[in-house]
Amino acid sequence: MAAYTPLTVEDAIEFARKVPDFFLPETELECEEIGDGNLNLVFRIRSSAQNKSLIIKQALPYAKVVGESWPLSLDRARIEREALIIQHKLCPDLVPAVYGGDSDLAVTIMEDLSDHVIMRRGLIEGRTYPRFAEHIGRFIATTLFFTSDLGMNQQRKKEMAASFTNPDLCKITEDLIFSDPYRDSENNDISADIQAEAEKLWTDEQLHLEVALLREKFLTHGEALIHGDLHTGSIFVTETSTKVIDPEFAYYGPIGFDLGAVIANLLLNFAAQPGWNNDRALQDKHRAWLLDTIRDVWAHFERHFERLWEEHGEDPIFRLPAYREHYLRKVLQDSIGFAGCKVIRRIVGLSHVADIDTIADDALRHQAKVTALTLGKALIKNGRQAASIEDVLTIAKHAA
Ligand code: ADP
Ligand code: MG
Ligand code: MG
Ligand code: MG
Repeated sequence: MAAYTPLTVEDAIEFARKVPDFFLPETELECEEIGDGNLNLVFRIRSSAQNKSLIIKQALPYAKVVGESWPLSLDRARIEREALIIQHKLCPDLVPAVYGGDSDLAVTIMEDLSDHVIMRRGLIEGRTYPRFAEHIGRFIATTLFFTSDLGMNQQRKKEMAASFTNPDLCKITEDLIFSDPYRDSENNDISADIQAEAEKLWTDEQLHLEVALLREKFLTHGEALIHGDLHTGSIFVTETSTKVIDPEFAYYGPIGFDLGAVIANLLLNFAAQPGWNNDRALQDKHRAWLLDTIRDVWAHFERHFERLWEEHGEDPIFRLPAYREHYLRKVLQDSIGFAGCKVIRRIVGLSHVADIDTIADDALRHQAKVTALTLGKALIKNGRQAASIEDVLTIAKHAA
C-alpha cells in the first residue's frame, strides 16, 4: 500500500513504466501535466521511439477553485475508474480503455485520446460533428439502461448503487447547480453587467418551486448509474469519433440529468453564437446545426432506449407500452428542467463556460448571458409540461 501523495512528472513516468505490456523497459519516456488543474492532475506519458502514449489521471484531495479549503474525497478516483470500466464495457467505441489504477494514490491509467479535441473547444471554433448525436444518444441510452432496474438484476443494482454513493461530488452539484444561483451566495460568480438579471433569480417563486422539484429528483431518484458531469468539456470528438471521459461525479441518479447536461451545453454554445460569428448567415447555420443536434440526441437516445427495452425488458409489467411511454415522457421532462438548471449555473454560478466568457466583445458577451438566462428560466418553468423535444427548440428560438 502506497500512501497518497500528489505525483510529480518523474513519479508519473515511473508509474507508467509499471503498466504491463505497454512501454518497452529501455524506452525513453516524456511526460507533461496537461490537466486544467482544478480538482485533478492529468499526465500524458509518451515514448516517441514506440510512438505510444497513455494518460494518468490523479485526484487531488481538495478543490482548488475555492482555495484549498474545500476537501474532496479521493474515493472519487475509484468511482471514476469503475464507472469508466463499466461504460467502456457497454460502449467500447465511446469510452477510453482503462489500463490500470491505484486506489491509494487515487490514480487511473487510461488510453490517450490526444488525437481528439474537447468538444467545447471544437464548437467554439465553429466545427460541427455529424456523428455526435448518434454516439452520445447511444452512450446515454446504453450506459443508463443497463445500470437501471430495467436492464439489470434489481438486487445487484442496489449493491452497485451502494458502491457509487459519491456524497462529496453530489454536494458540489446540489450546491452549485440547485442552490447557489437562486440566492445571494458567496460561491456565485456574477459579472456586474448581469447583476440585476441574476438578482431576479433570487425572488422568482415559480422558478424556485421547479428547481426544488428538480433538486429533489437529483437527491432521491436513483434510476441509473449516471455520468453526472456530461458537459461538452467531458466529451472528446473528431468528425467520426466520440469519447466520453471524466465520470468522477458518477452516482445513482436521474436519467434526465445526463441528457440535460448535453442539451444545456449545446444551448450555451447556441446562446454564444453572435459572439463568435459576425456573419449572420453563418450564425444561423451553426444555430440550426445545434438545434438539429439537440433534436437528434433525444431521438437517438429514445430509439436506443426503446430498442433495449424491447430486447431486454423481461418482466411483463415492464413490457406495458403505456408504462414505457410514461417513463420516457418523464425522462424528457426531467432532461429539459435539468438542462435549464445547468444553463443558469454557467452564467451566474461558480464555474462558467468558455463559450460565453471568452467572447471578446463586451456587448455581445452580455447579450449571450441574457439569452442564456432567458433560455434557462424558460426550460425550467416549462419542463414539467413538455410533450416533445420540439418544445426545447421553440424555447431556444424565442430566446435568441
Ligand atoms: P477534470 O476532472 O479535472 O476536469 P478531465 O478528465 O476532464 O479532468 O481531464 C482534464 C483534461 O485533461 C481534459 O480536458 C483533456 O485535455 C486532458 N485529458 C483527460 N483525459 C484524457 C485522455 N484520456 N486523453 C487525452 N487527454 C486527456
Ligand atoms: Mg476540468
Ligand atoms: Mg473535466
Ligand atoms: Mg472532472
